[in-house]
Amino acid sequence: MSTAPTIAIVGAGLGGLTLARVLRTHGIASTVYERDASPTARDQGGTLDLDEESGQRALSAAGLLEEFRELSRPEGGEVRLLGKDASTVLHAPAPEGGGDRPEIDRSALRGLLLDSLPRGTVRWGRTVRAVAAPPAGRPTLTLSDGERVEADLVVGADGAWSRVRPLLSDAPPVYSGVTMSHGLLEDVDTRHRALAEFVGHGSMYAFGDERAVVAQRNGGGRIRVYCSVKVPEGWSDTEGAAPEAVTKRVLDHFPGWDDALRALITDTDRPLVLRPVHALPVGYRWDRVRGLTLLGDAAHLMSPYAGAGANLAMLDGAELAGAIAAHDDLETALNVYETALFPRGETAAALAAANLTGFLRPDGLRIARDVFVSLTSHTPKAASGDDTR
Ligand SMILES: Cc1cc2nc3c(=O)[nH]c(=O)nc-3n(C[C@H](O)[C@H](O)[C@H](O)COP(=O)(O)OP(=O)(O)OC[C@H]3O[C@@H](n4cnc5c(N)ncnc54)[C@H](O)[C@@H]3O)c2cc1C
Repeated sequence: MSTAPTIAIVGAGLGGLTLARVLRTHGIASTVYERDASPTARDQGGTLDLDEESGQRALSAAGLLEEFRELSRPEGGEVRLLGKDASTVLHAPAPEGGGDRPEIDRSALRGLLLDSLPRGTVRWGRTVRAVAAPPAGRPTLTLSDGERVEADLVVGADGAWSRVRPLLSDAPPVYSGVTMSHGLLEDVDTRHRALAEFVGHGSMYAFGDERAVVAQRNGGGRIRVYCSVKVPEGWSDTEGAAPEAVTKRVLDHFPGWDDALRALITDTDRPLVLRPVHALPVGYRWDRVRGLTLLGDAAHLMSPYAGAGANLAMLDGAELAGAIAAHDDLETALNVYETALFPRGETAAALAAANLTGFLRPDGLRIARDVFVSLTSHTPKAASGDDTR
């Protein structure tokens, strides 16, 4: 690109930061507007395995692959699949050296990207309240303090409930019928030794009765626990409820499950948080609007059941930066980017929807076993079978 455009990125998640970083490697400056007050204002969540074709490809474009390998946790690739009675259906030890999808804590990955950006690139505590895109002029952001920012390009990297998305399409995310509880066990090798041994060094999945308990070992002696249940959306409203009542609300969905699996729900060190799972329609896309685009969850929000959202967000960021650098005309760059983005998002969203439906069927354990056998032999495969939900 001959004259660098002014680029405003809304959201300092993994997607927005990868975009800023790869732009930077091409000598193009950008500004990231983030509503969190600081990098540590919010728990960044658990562990991610980065795929060679998406997350790692993005880090390669960012020039950060070596640093990523140093921060990754190869032992986190261990996988256990259990029945609701805790019987082992599959146990795959971590591949040598982390295999082709090494695990990394999200906070470490976000820190790596942040540290790679010039100071001041991310403007913390700057919530974007409104976005306007006049047909003839440049798009404008209005920030929470009233400041207005004009740019040649505004990128919505602002996640599930994007403020930029409504300017491109009016289709909102839809509740999947599944709500997840999020729990955290801390200092597990001292305080929760039996559960630490039960979960192992990587991820443990248990499926049955159209429900799931997933526990993932993180760095820093932590285990994150996610339970999935099929409930009406209002079930997650816990306003005013005591933590014990929220725990009971989740536990009541797991009668007859093994004591260790139930202990993963009851023994958490922080109150459980209930989060409904939303997704954009599979095949979601929009018509070009001058000076605006989306990436990551803003572009293709899907259930976590494909383990793909963060990987794709990073690849989107890297691809968008590459397209901007490669084309003199911004609209041409956006066309090139979106032409590849839409089918990529559609494939992953279809996999996520198939796995969510398949794993939470009455025979979900069998379906999960088929998928996990493929995954642990490094060939991704969608859940199969009739949708009887
Ligand atoms: C339980 C769970 C497990 C998952 N596991 C995996 C996995 O194993 N592998 C994987 O690849 N993916 C996984 N995902 C999906 C992954 O977390 C998301 O797809 C990914 O974080 C999307 O990144 P993003 O940058 O698009 O958006 P986000 O990470 O949501 O970042 C958006 C940023 O925008 C900011 N923001 C929002 N609104 C505004 C505003 N108005 N103004 C300014 N800033 C704003 C937010 O504060 C946030 O920092 C999982 C998701 C969940 C819920």
